[in-house]
Amino acid sequence: MPNMSNSKNPMPSQPPQTRNKNFSEVALGFSAETALNEAERCLNCKNKPCVSGCPVGIDIPAFIEKIKAQDFSSAYDVIAQSSSLPAVCGRVCPQETQCEQYCVRGIKGEAVAIGRLERFAADFRREHPVPLSEVRPNGIKIAVVGAGPAGLTCAGELAKNGYSVTVFEALHKAGGVLVYGIPEFRLPKSIVEEEINNLRELGVDIMTNTIVGKTVTIDELFEDGYQSVFIGSGAGLPNFLGILGENSKGVYSANEYLTRINLMKAYDELSDTPIYRAKSAAIVGGGNVAMDAARCAKRLGAENVYIVYRRSETEMPARNEEIEHAKEEGIIFKTLCNPVKINADESGRATSMVCCEMELGEPDASSRRRPKEKPDSLFTLETDCIIMAVGTSPNPLISLTTEGLKTNKHGCIIADENGLTTHKNVYAGGDAVTGAATVILAMGAGKTAAAEIMKNFN
Ligand SMILES: Cc1cc2nc3c(=O)[nH]c(=O)nc-3n(C[C@H](O)[C@H](O)[C@H](O)COP(=O)(O)OP(=O)(O)OC[C@H]3O[C@@H](n4cnc5c(N)ncnc54)[C@H](O)[C@@H]3O)c2cc1C
Ligand code: SF4
Repeated sequence: MPNMSNSKNPMPSQPPQTRNKNFSEVALGFSAETALNEAERCLNCKNKPCVSGCPVGIDIPAFIEKIKAQDFSSAYDVIAQSSSLPAVCGRVCPQETQCEQYCVRGIKGEAVAIGRLERFAADFRREHPVPLSEVRPNGIKIAVVGAGPAGLTCAGELAKNGYSVTVFEALHKAGGVLVYGIPEFRLPKSIVEEEINNLRELGVDIMTNTIVGKTVTIDELFEDGYQSVFIGSGAGLPNFLGILGENSKGVYSANEYLTRINLMKAYDELSDTPIYRAKSAAIVGGGNVAMDAARCAKRLGAENVYIVYRRSETEMPARNEEIEHAKEEGIIFKTLCNPVKINADESGRATSMVCCEMELGEPDASSRRRPKEKPDSLFTLETDCIIMAVGTSPNPLISLTTEGLKTNKHGCIIADENGLTTHKNVYAGGDAVTGAATVILAMGAGKTAAAEIMKNFN
């Protein structure tokens, strides 16, 4: 008999007032007993509506059936047929707007906790590893630019099929946003490292500290004997508001702030990379990036941490879970509020931010209600650190140095549904093509492009 409880099993977590002072993982994961109980809520629906909501088409009821049978390792194998980073996706995918949104158990109660079960299966396999099977090399060299989820997935798919893959990564560590953006307390870096080590074991060569477009060009990669190139260089160029005072000391892009903390471990007193320890921090934006920056500022000791967002909470693009976690940790939400100017002292350090109140008008092109300024509503927020989390764009370096590689008006590389760009034998996917999106979509694009590249050699 299925478990007909209308509620998901809650995720065991660190208490809010403990976790907002440390960088350890917030969500602690299901025990085997809880995973079994949650798996029993799945009805193993014949038409599998949940699968239609998964961008990479994981056979969700099949892996949940394996959990029910207590064959946790096989549950992982089912997921791994479609996803190359299950431990990552089980932690950061927005399941509530994907698979879980389509789960029939969600009609009368809460959906099956698919993401939590995915994480359980992936963590079980990490604790009970099995040796990888041998692959016969085919001698065909493929270059991948960028070691984020798109590039790593593409590299993994190709390497599993015998291709000789080299990943060129600009930073000193592989992982993309998974290591430099998403904080340790949401996604422990040891998990990303293990996934990358698995790729290395498959034979993928990762060359860090190599900026394609500077250290080496795409044309030079072809001259070196690479037969195809996949570009997964992400969208790491931060946007700013262009308001007065934005160049003051204490104003960061979220990318810089998070990179200092996550990649360079600025929160650790032994780290060489400094970070300003704010008394009060204001984060401008309402996405996951804004929530991550706010929760980091709190952990670094800021007393008051504000989320400043020009629409209402309903329009916030961040995951509900992230919003809830941020609130529990004491982050103050200033919605319908827009920055106008940053004030600084005589040394140029930010001291406060002038904002105006907003109200919502008619829906705009994004079908969200357009915010407009309320007359005579200016007010001043005392803050010595302002973090801009108002979106990012792809860095133009690669397109500027590669003749024939076209971009659209947003600077995103133009690619067809299989990832083929306007340059012969050059494929692209992930945020570099779509603009800032999600881990699973980037992985899906890497997988599709790998399949397309392989067709050229069949
Ligand atoms: C703070 C933050 C939190 C997020 N939270 C979530 C979340 O909870 N859930 C979710 O699904 N998504 C989340 N996202 C979005 C998600 O991380 C991205 O959509 C995803 O990482 C995109 O993958 P990618 O491989 O396309 O690019 P990236 O992850 O950006 O990787 C691109 C890689 O290419 C490298 N690179 C760039 N230019 C060059 C060059 N010229 N030469 C060589 N290498 C280069 C970069 O250094 C980087 O390592 C978040 C993003 C941020 C910033
Ligand atoms: S829709 Fe929900 S109940 Fe049905 S198979 Fe998928 S997870 Fe199980």
